[in-house]
Amino acid sequence: MCSRRSNTVTKKEICERCGAKCCRGVDYKRWYVRVTLRDIVRIAARLDLDILDLLRKYIVLLPQGAYSIPVLRAVDSSCMFLRVTRCTIHEVKPLACRVYPIIPPGDRLDLRCPLSRFPDLLDEERSYVRQYVEEFLETESLLSRSKTRTVDDLVRVIKSYL
Ligand code: SF4
Ligand code: SF4
Repeated sequence: MCSRRSNTVTKKEICERCGAKCCRGVDYKRWYVRVTLRDIVRIAARLDLDILDLLRKYIVLLPQGAYSIPVLRAVDSSCMFLRVTRCTIHEVKPLACRVYPIIPPGDRLDLRCPLSRFPDLLDEERSYVRQYVEEFLETESLLSRSKTRTVDDLVRVIKSYL
């Protein structure tokens, strides 16, 4: 049934109808977008910003045990890069956004996303899962090893290792 329906509807149409729910509702507890350190480097380059400026403006650090993890900042619970229903950094959006609604490392889908009912439309998302897992593990390893807590810590880690 999924494949029949997905022959008659495109991913773009499904996302347009949905209105970018995945970019809203940020509460920094159950719903937020994690970024890898390489995501940060790519977004900073695209926006022509220094890493420190990018972090101060667009990233929030959430405590996670002995270190903190970087996530996208939200305003009024929507991602700062969202304009109406459009992602303004589409070509460098975080890998977590690229793979959504797939939940790596496997092929589990987030059922809150309407696209999850059309798994045959998710080839592009699947193609980023491996890169996401590699960058996610690299980020976890560097953050935990360096016990990164502050924006300055994060800048040091990025400049030393990437
Ligand atoms: S990925 Fe899912 S939640 Fe996000 S806009 Fe598309 S349909 Fe909506
Ligand atoms: S970076 Fe783009 S796709 Fe990701 S949550 Fe923000 S607006 Fe949505």
